[in-house]
Amino acid sequence: MIQPAAEPVTFRSLGQRSVLFLVGAIFGVIGAGILVTDHSIPGILIGAVVAGVGGVLACRGPRTGVRADSRGIAHRALERTRLIPWCQISSITTGQANGSSPLPTDTATLALRDGSTHVLTGMATSTLARRSTSAADDRGQELRTRHALHREACASC
Ligand SMILES: [Zn+2]
Repeated sequence: MIQPAAEPVTFRSLGQRSVLFLVGAIFGVIGAGILVTDHSIPGILIGAVVAGVGGVLACRGPRTGVRADSRGIAHRALERTRLIPWCQISSITTGQANGSSPLPTDTATLALRDGSTHVLTGMATSTLARRSTSAADDRGQELRTRHALHREACASC
């Protein structure tokens, strides 16, 4: 397989990462507060869960993002990181997507060859933010261009 020469590109959402980190930090503090003040079994369990959720949000939240390189799209979401090879992608669309955020967001969605879809929540921007839609469109276009370059060069696509 010939790799098209393209520098890796990373898309992130500053707003999303900040919010996830802040919410995580608040949960962490609340959880720690419960653990320190409540020594009953339910108190310890609830405190541990709240602090644990906060820890995951605070640690992984700031690292969410989407990276495209010669292999494919590496999507680092809150829950896990997944590398989707270009060969598995059939098309890329942009638009409003409902991920884990309670607010509507703009991002790109991958249609995969196995018939499933994969929403790139890691680079979602709030629809309410200025230029959110055009930013999502620009990013989607960049990913489409790279996908097309891959297809031209790939024998197995
Ligand atoms: Zn391919």
